[in-house]
Amino acid sequence: MTDKKELLGVFDDVEEAIKAAEKAQKELVTKYTLEDRDRFIENIRKFAMEKMEYLAELELEETGYGRIEDKIAKNSGAVMFSQGTEAIPKNIYATDKGLTVEYYAPYGVIGAITPVTNPAATVVGNGIAAMAAGNSVIFNAHPNGKRTSAYTVSLINEAIIDAGGPENLLVMPRNPDMETLDVIMKSPVVKLLIGTGGPGMVHTLMRSGKKVVAAGAGNPPSIIDDTADLKKAAEGIYASASFDNNLLCIAEKEIFVLDSIFDEFVEELQKVGAYKLNEEESKKVTDLVVLSDEEGNKYINKKYIGKCTNVILKDIGIEIDSDPRIAFFETTMEHPLVFLEQMMPIIPLIRCESFEQAVEWAVQAEQGNKHSASIWSKDIDRVTVFGRAIDTTIFVQNGGTMSAFGVGGSGTNSPTIATPTGEGVTGPQTFTRRRRFCMAGGGNYLL
Ligand code: NAD
Repeated sequence: MTDKKELLGVFDDVEEAIKAAEKAQKELVTKYTLEDRDRFIENIRKFAMEKMEYLAELELEETGYGRIEDKIAKNSGAVMFSQGTEAIPKNIYATDKGLTVEYYAPYGVIGAITPVTNPAATVVGNGIAAMAAGNSVIFNAHPNGKRTSAYTVSLINEAIIDAGGPENLLVMPRNPDMETLDVIMKSPVVKLLIGTGGPGMVHTLMRSGKKVVAAGAGNPPSIIDDTADLKKAAEGIYASASFDNNLLCIAEKEIFVLDSIFDEFVEELQKVGAYKLNEEESKKVTDLVVLSDEEGNKYINKKYIGKCTNVILKDIGIEIDSDPRIAFFETTMEHPLVFLEQMMPIIPLIRCESFEQAVEWAVQAEQGNKHSASIWSKDIDRVTVFGRAIDTTIFVQNGGTMSAFGVGGSGTNSPTIATPTGEGVTGPQTFTRRRRFCMAGGGNYLL
């Protein structure tokens, strides 16, 4: 199905891809209106929703990560709840001195780097937002998700062309690697780079000399305090930390629970279906999923990223018929999974003597990523204290971190949360540069 001939916007040569994207962008802004862009986006949503199941199957088959039903929900969110042209701001300054209008104009061709954990959603989300703002995009997809990304690029182009739009608004090299990335970073045609992934990628983009929107790694902590509705907190953590097997950068990765309600919270977690690892089991799981290099530095065993709990447990000799969405264990701040971004549904719970201790430890675990965090508490003063201390881009009270993206809370969807560079949840406005037109000398003042 992802046969060479059928893939629109996928090029053998990266330079050819950039040229095609440049031509497409010029056509977009000279021959088409904003209403046309809206029509293209509507058609993208229609085409993508029709292929949603296939897209999820392809993503799981290619990457080996996550769960089909969650991929369908995740990718549908990126398709249906991403922002279009309505999100492009404009500012108007009108006084008796004159009239000035500030437009949010496109950059031109944007270079986008996508993660293996989201090979479809990042193409859809970045693609719709960049195109809504009048740009074209060249994607350098993660090599281990390139077939899914290529299929998505092609599907979006097909939808745009079907709606009467130009070819190649989204392009990518067929075999993306560090060399194609280098060409994209050095191309004078590419005016903005947007990267979604880990710290190595962010570091590389930052050295390009171009403007960078960087969406980096996270390690989101959650605090459960003694005023929380523990049943709701257990349900919320179970749903959110387990989503797509904990692959998402926003997913809760370690939970700080106040001592006075720790045992009750554990019971509630078990009631909703989570598997409690005893001391011996948690040691075995840790040895399986955390590896050490020669210098003793710990890192995650990639074999278990995005795998289901029962698959991981099977490899330590625990056979279970059911499918618990997470397994959890009690531990201390010394445990490596408190600090490593595990991206698998094995969740450490840390018992805290006081709220102050929970805040201190959660801040340490987040490690200044400024990414995401949550708190389950009815005490607004505490929520404020934690929100100030943790200083993350996404901060949620009484909900899974996905709530800030419209799942159990309100918000728009985006697969790219620009954390180190500070743009936050990206959208069409992220892909714009501000231009001013001024009618001077009191021109056009009508009062
Ligand atoms: P990754 O860093 O391994 O790869 C991301 C992309 O960067 C890929 O296209 C990869 O080919 C490229 N890359 C990797 N190392 C590079 C380097 N040294 N120089 C240049 N490019 C490089 O990450 P991943 O495993 O694909 O994705 C998971 C990571 O992405 C997690 O850390 C997760 O938190 C993060 N993420 C962040 C967001 C966000 O919005 N902030 C969203 C999704 C994922």
